Amino acid sequence: MTHIRTRFAPSPTGFMHVGGVRTALFAWLIAQQAAGTFILRIEDTDKVREVEGSIAQIEDSLHWLGIDWQEGIDKGGDYGPYLQSERLDIYKQWADKLVASGRAYADPYTRDELDAFRELAKAEKRPFLYRHHRPENPPEWDGSQPLRFRSDPKEYRWHDAVMGDLSTGPEAIDDFILVKSDGYPTYNFCHIIDDMLMGVTHVLRSQEFISSTPKFLNLYEALEIERPTLGTLPFVMAIDGKKKLGKRDGAKDVLEYGREGYLSEAMMNFLATLGWNDGTEQEVFTVQELIDKFSLDRVQKSPARFDEKRLLWLNGQHIRMLSLDELIERVTDFWPAAAAGASDEHKREVLALVQDRLKTLADLPILTSYFFEEPDPNWLMLADNKQLRKLEHEQIRSLLTATRDTLADTSVAFEPSTLQETLNQLLETTGEKPGILLSLIRLAVSWAPFSPALSDTLATLGRDITIARIDRALHALDD
Ligand code: GLU
Repeated sequence: MTHIRTRFAPSPTGFMHVGGVRTALFAWLIAQQAAGTFILRIEDTDKVREVEGSIAQIEDSLHWLGIDWQEGIDKGGDYGPYLQSERLDIYKQWADKLVASGRAYADPYTRDELDAFRELAKAEKRPFLYRHHRPENPPEWDGSQPLRFRSDPKEYRWHDAVMGDLSTGPEAIDDFILVKSDGYPTYNFCHIIDDMLMGVTHVLRSQEFISSTPKFLNLYEALEIERPTLGTLPFVMAIDGKKKLGKRDGAKDVLEYGREGYLSEAMMNFLATLGWNDGTEQEVFTVQELIDKFSLDRVQKSPARFDEKRLLWLNGQHIRMLSLDELIERVTDFWPAAAAGASDEHKREVLALVQDRLKTLADLPILTSYFFEEPDPNWLMLADNKQLRKLEHEQIRSLLTATRDTLADTSVAFEPSTLQETLNQLLETTGEKPGILLSLIRLAVSWAPFSPALSDTLATLGRDITIARIDRALHALDD
C-alpha cells in the first residue's frame, strides 16, 4: 500500500484564517487516518508579499489546533529543506532540464511589448495567450529574463478527489512563467517540483487554484512525472453566502479564537464540518472521530458558509464534554481577577456549577465573579426581569425577610438537596411563583444576570455569605 504523504504549503503572508487552516486540517486528517506523513512546507518565493513573523504564527496556529507535522523547517526530515527559498538550486536544476529538453525558453519581451500584445488581444476581443507570441528564436536563458514553459496545448479530463470529473480545452493552457527575472521560481513551477521530490501523494488546496490545474497537468507531462491525487476545496464564504470570507466578515487570526475562549477541538470540529459531513446528522465530533470518519468524497463541492453562531454552539458542546480536571487546566487564563486568592477547591466547585453554561471560556468572569467578590446591590436590575419588575418594595422586603429567617436557622443544612427542599417549603409558605421568589433570591445573592441552580449557588456561597448578602440587599432597598 502507498504510504500517504500530504502537505500544507502556506505562504508566509500574514496570519492564518479559517479557510487556510481548514485546508491544513483536511490534509492532516487524510495523513492521520492512513498513519501517513503530514508535511509543513513554507512557500516563500514571493518576497514582495512576505510578512515578517508569519512563519511562527503559522506554526503556532497549527500547534494550537493540535495539527502536528512530521516534517518541516523546525523538524527536519528526509526531503528538506522545507523552506522554498532554500531550494533555489533544486529549482534551477529542473529549470535547466526543461531548457535542455526544449520545454522552457527565455522570455525576450519587455513589459511594454507584452502590454501591447495584451492590448491587441483586447481590441480584437480574444483572450490573451502568451503562446500566440512565442518567439521563434528565443535568446539563451542567462537568468536575467523570465523563463517560460513551452506548453503543449490540449484537452484534459481529470478526476479531482472533491470536485469529481473535470475537463478543459486547449485554451486553458499557456506558456506561463517558471522562473521570474529575480531568480525566484513561480508557485506554478516550484510546488510541482517540491510535491514530486517530497513524495506527496495527495495535494489539497483551495478553489482559487482550480483554473491553473490544466497548466499543472501540462507541466507534469513535460517533466514526465506522475501527478499526485488532486483535491480542490471549495471557498469558505461569509455567512450571507455571497462573497468569499474576508477580514470584514470575520476572517480573523485563528489564534484570536483561542484568546476569546474557544477550545481548539471545537474549532477543529467546526472547520472539519465546514463543507463536510459523515452522511449522518452528527454534528459534534471528537478529534478521533474526525480522523476515523473523514473522507474527501464527502466534502461538498459548493462553498461552505462561515457561521460563527455554529462555532459558538459547538464550543459549548465541547466544553461540556471535558472532564472537570481537563476544564480546570483550560480555564487558567480566564478566571475573574477576584478569584486570584481563592483556593483551588473553591474554584473547582464553582467551575463544576457553571460548566454547562459556558459557551466560551471567556464567559467565566460574568458567570462566577460573585462567588469570589461581594457584588454591589443594584435594584435597577429588577427592570430587566418581567416578573420581578411588578413587585412592590414591601413585597420584596417580606419575601427576602422570610427567606433570610428561614436560611439563618442552623438546622437547615447548607447543601443542595436540603436547600432545594427548604426553597420548596418557602414557595409554599409564601404562596409565590418560583419565577418570582427564586429569581428574587438569586438576584439578591448574586446581582448577576444568570446563575446556576439556586440551591447549588447558595450551597457554594455558604450560609454566612448568603445571609449577609440578603441583609445588604434589604438595606439597599431603602436607599
Ligand atoms: N502557497 C500556496 C498558498 O499559500 C499553497 C497552495 C498549495 O497548497 O499548493 O496559497
